[in-house]
Amino acid sequence: MKIDSVRVAACRLPPASPWEDATNKVQGLELIFVELTTSSGLTGVGLTYTVDVGGTAIRALIEDYLTPLVIGMDARDYERIWTRMHRQTRRLGLGANRMAMAAIDVAVWDLIGKHRGEPLHRLLGGARDAIPAYVSEINLSDADTPDALAARVDDYAAQGWRGVKIKIGRDDPREDEARIARARERLPAGAPLFVDLNQKWSAAEALARAPRLDRFDLGWIEEPLACHDVAGHAALRRAMSTPLALGESLYAAEQFRDYLAAGAVDVVQADVAFVGGITEWLKIAHLAQTFGRKVAPHYMAELSLPLLCGVANGLMLESVVGGSLHELGLVAEPLDIRDGLARPGPRPGHGIVPDWRAIEAAALTPEKVRGSFSGGSK
Ligand SMILES: [Mg+2]
Repeated sequence: MKIDSVRVAACRLPPASPWEDATNKVQGLELIFVELTTSSGLTGVGLTYTVDVGGTAIRALIEDYLTPLVIGMDARDYERIWTRMHRQTRRLGLGANRMAMAAIDVAVWDLIGKHRGEPLHRLLGGARDAIPAYVSEINLSDADTPDALAARVDDYAAQGWRGVKIKIGRDDPREDEARIARARERLPAGAPLFVDLNQKWSAAEALARAPRLDRFDLGWIEEPLACHDVAGHAALRRAMSTPLALGESLYAAEQFRDYLAAGAVDVVQADVAFVGGITEWLKIAHLAQTFGRKVAPHYMAELSLPLLCGVANGLMLESVVGGSLHELGLVAEPLDIRDGLARPGPRPGHGIVPDWRAIEAAALTPEKVRGSFSGGSK
C-alpha cells in the first residue's frame, strides 16, 4: 500500500460563533486537509489545524517537505513514517512541524483502517462503543453576564450534555466566582462543571485564587498557568483539591512525561493535531494510564471521539461550541451525540469525509491572512 500522491487543501474561516477567552480573541481557524492516494487505490484523509496563526507555514511544510518524504512509503508502516518526518523536522523544535506531521499521520491511520475494513476506534483498541461528551463554550467577552451564562447553561442541560466547560479569568476574582456559582446552580447534580483559564494566571495568582474555587466542587481547572511551568502546576495541585487539567499547549510525549512524573496534572488533554497525530497521541494516552490518569483530548471532536473509544483511560469528549467540522460547513454530517453520549460511526478509518468544495470556498491564501488577521491576543 505505497503512498503515490499527496493532495493538500487549506482553509481559513472564523469560528461558527465568536470565540474569546481570558488571553485571546480568535479571528480565524485554519484547517489543513490532506488526501493520500495509494498504489492499491485507497485514499486516506488527514487534517490538522491552528488558531489564528501559522496555517500557510504548515501547508508549506506538508507540500514542500513532508510530501517528498512519504511518497513511496507503505502506509501500513505508521511508526516508520512518523519517525522519518520527526527526524527530518526536529530542528524546527516543537510546534508547526508537529501540526504538519499530524495531517499526514492521521491520513495514514485512515488508510490503515480502510485497508483493514475497521473503524479507527476498534483499530486503536476498541475500549468502548460510546463516551460521555461535554459542551465547551469559548465566551468570555466583556459583554457576557452571569445571567446570560446561566441561560446558556440551561440550554446545555436541556440538550442533555453530560458536563459543561466555561471560560474564566476576569481580573476581579468575584466576577469569576459569580460566573461559576451561576453555572453550577443551573447544572443537574452529578454533571461536572469545568473552568478554563487559558494560562491567564501567574503562579502567585493561581496559588491565591485557585484554592478558593474548591468549594464549587469543579470537575477540573484547566490551564491555570503558563504551559511550561511544570513546578508551578505541581505546587498548585498540592494546594487545592480540584483536579488539574492541561495538555493542549504541549507537543510531545516527553513533555507529558515530565508533567506526570512531577505530579503536576490530573487530566491529560493532548490535542491529536498538536502532538503530531494519532501515533504520538496513543503513546501519551498509554503513558497517562501508567500514572493512573485519564485522557480528555482537546478539541478536534471528530478525531478525539474514536481516540477516546479506542483507549482504556478515555474520560470525556470535548464538543466546542462553534468549532465542529459540521458547524464550520466542512463536512456534511454532524457527530452522533445523543443524550450527551457520543458514538463513533461504523465507517472504516476515522469516517471524516471533507467537503472539498467548501474548503476551497474558504481557501487559505496569504492575501486572506493579511486581510483578516490583526491579532487578538489580550
Ligand atoms: Mg482549554
